[in-house]
Formats: sequence, C-alpha cells, structure tokens
Amino acid sequence: MRITNLNPDTEIGATSWFLNMEGHGLLMDAGMHPGREGRDALPLYDKIQSETVDSIVLSHCHHDHVGSLPVAVRRFPKAHVLMTELSYLLVERVLHNSVNVMSRQRDELGIKDYPLFGHDELDDIASIFQGFRYNREIEWAGHQKRQAGFVSPTLEFYDAGHALGSAGIMVRGGKQTLFFTGDVSFRDQTILRGARFEDVRADVLVMETTRGNRHVPPGFTREREVERLTVALEQVQKRRACVLIPTFALGRTQEILALLAVLMKTGRIRQQPIYIGGLGRVFTEMYDIEAQRTHRMLSQLKLTEALNLVVLEKGQANKMRLRGGRIFVVTAGMMTEHTAAHDLALRMVEDESQSIFFVGYAEPSTPGGRLKAAKPGEKFVFSPSGGELTHRCDVQDFDLTAHANRDELLAFVDQVGPKVVVLGHGNQDSREWFAANIKARNPKIRVLQPGPGETVEV
Ligand SMILES: [Zn+2]
Ligand SMILES: [Zn+2]
Repeated sequence: MRITNLNPDTEIGATSWFLNMEGHGLLMDAGMHPGREGRDALPLYDKIQSETVDSIVLSHCHHDHVGSLPVAVRRFPKAHVLMTELSYLLVERVLHNSVNVMSRQRDELGIKDYPLFGHDELDDIASIFQGFRYNREIEWAGHQKRQAGFVSPTLEFYDAGHALGSAGIMVRGGKQTLFFTGDVSFRDQTILRGARFEDVRADVLVMETTRGNRHVPPGFTREREVERLTVALEQVQKRRACVLIPTFALGRTQEILALLAVLMKTGRIRQQPIYIGGLGRVFTEMYDIEAQRTHRMLSQLKLTEALNLVVLEKGQANKMRLRGGRIFVVTAGMMTEHTAAHDLALRMVEDESQSIFFVGYAEPSTPGGRLKAAKPGEKFVFSPSGGELTHRCDVQDFDLTAHANRDELLAFVDQVGPKVVVLGHGNQDSREWFAANIKARNPKIRVLQPGPGETVEV
C-alpha cells in the first residue's frame, strides 16, 4: 500500500492521509489548519490530483480533521463520505459554523479566499454523507467492479473515546490491514469512556503523537488534576472575579460542563449560571440526546437539565460586568479572533483579579497559545485585532487531556503488533520520541514520518 501525508505542516496542522490499498483510494480525514488562514490552511490535495478517491472517511468532527471536507468532496466528486452515525449528527453543524467563521474573517480580516465553501454547497453535498455504527464492516471501494473473485476492501470504526462520535479506523484489504488511530483517549474522561481498541491488530499503524513531548509526572492522576481545578474555581468565587475556560465546542465543553455539574451537585462550587456559546449549546444537547447510545459515564446526567446554561449573545462578551464569580465555558479553545473566548480574554488578561484556565491544547501560533507562553508581567502580542497586552491575570493550565499519554500509545503499539508505524498529529519532538522508543522496544518495526506531501510505500 501507499500512504501520503497531506498535512501542510510538520506540526498537528490539518489532518488528512491518502491511502492507496490494493489499487483503491481512501482519503482519511479532511482537516483544516487551526493556525493558518485561507488556502494555506488546506491539506495538500494537489499532491493526489491524479489519484482516484473511492471514499473519504472521517475519524471525528474536530476542525483539524473535518474542516475542509466540502473542498475534498469538490476535488473528488465520486467519493463516498463515511463516518460514524454520531459524527453524522454533528458534521453539518460543524461545517456550517465554519462557513460563518470564514465569512466573518473575510469581512473583518480581508481574507479574500474565504469562505472556502458556502452554506448552499454544504447543503448540496450533505446527501452523500453516510453514518455507520461502531464495529461494523463497511465496503468502501469497488462498488462498480463487483465480479467473481473480487475482494472489496472494508473499513470498521472503533470507538476512540476522544469526543462524541470519534473513531479509530480499521482498513482491511485482501492481503493487508491498516489501523488509523484518529485522536484517541484510552482513559475514561468525565463524561466519555475511554477507547475500545482492545481487539485491534494490524500490519500498518497510523498513529497520533500529540503527547509524545510530554511525560506524565510521577504521582499525576486525572483525579488530582480535577481537584486542583476545583480548588482554583473555589478561589475565583472567593475573589468574586470571573473565570474564562476556553474550550472547543465539541468534546471539551461537555467534559467541563459535566465536571461543573458534579461539583455543583456535591456543593463544592455554588449553583450559578454557566455562560456558553451557541454551538457549544447545540453539541451539549446532542450529548444529552445520545446519552444512551454513547459509551459514557454518568449516563443519567443531562447537562442541559442539571445546569443553568446561558448562551452568550453576539457582542455580549464585550459588555458584561466581569464580577461575581461568573463562569464562562466558551469557544474558541485556542481563542481565535472574533470569538467570545478571544473577546473576553481581551478584557481579562490585564486585570489581575480575573482567571483564565486552559484545559486543552492551544497551537503556539494562536492567541491562546501566545497567552499560554507569556510569563506573568510580560508584554506579548495577543492577536492582530487585540494588539499587545500585558499578562496580569491568573492563567493556569490543567491537564485534562482527551489524548492518550505517550506510554499508553507505546503499549498500544505492542498490542497492535504492526510491521510499520506511521507517525502523525504531533510536533517533531513528539514524533522523534515515539520513533526512538518504538525502535528501542522492537527494532523490527519500521517507523516512518512522511513530511508534508510525502508518500511512503509499505
Ligand atoms: Zn480531536
Ligand atoms: Zn486532532
């Protein structure tokens, strides 16, 4: 088989892999780069211009994995579009929201390429999207060539425990198998249970490496981290200032809301409204509606009933009084411009009574990433529209990741027993760590890190 890395960046960037297995073409994910603008944010689809793409398959509905799906469908109009049935419920919302964000950025930042696709185009292609259950084998190619002796390759979704609908993807050909982890959490989170990858064995493993550059300190547990966050929230309430928790609308928001619901129920923090964004609200309802069909914890907990959720109206973030221990759980997780998180942060960063708590990854080139990197008292450029700010507020980082730790992924490599491991979705130092450690454990495994646009034959 041949595998091409279409991510335009050597960092996490825009996930998209092209796989040619036994003559059939499969595009795995069609992401968009969170830290780039215009066409530069797209995967390198030109590199596979001459290929036939039989199907496009999605691991999950985060922007860095699905943000350019309509562009991919336009490029490869014959392709089927396959995803889990839970992703099927989410994907249109995610992409319509992207159209809105891109349209705003065109007007406000003058990015002429935007929007890269429109609402009408999205409505037109939505009819080809197909949702499937986990752990069901699906034929994805050779629909036209069915004849005696022809073996059609299949794929199967495995619950990845990362966000609602997330999946690892098993691709089976006549002779070879490949498993793509997508983004994966092996550990139970507050609301979602960990991945169900126990039976996975494959010849080739395409693996995320997000946390390869991060070792887990001795004594670290998720429970202790939750306790540290709880104490920090109690302090915010004592100070009667506010706290901003920037999150992705899908996944992180519901994890944090579930945590807040538990803390309010047990009386650790007082009952009060939680301010969220419109899209966060939509996905929170989906988590509630699909509670019984999802492999999750607290399956009786309905977030929209347990919490008093208040959707921030347009422009409200610029006007509200920032007093009284208010809690904001709003997008964007990386504080991109023209989002509630960005606008609130602008008002909070230079006020030492306010708190901003990060609970997930923020790309270094985004406003969130730059705030994380700035030392207390330091001046830094927050964003083009926000300009230079001095970091005075209380900024804390809580490790409540929805990604597997590196030791868990190493153990997973042992379980899968691959001949080849292809590393992606991580910075260079993360991939290097995995390359060295996989080799040290099993020198027979070939470890590959194809760069942007590069193809490897395995
Ligand atoms: Zn993700
Ligand atoms: Zn990702």
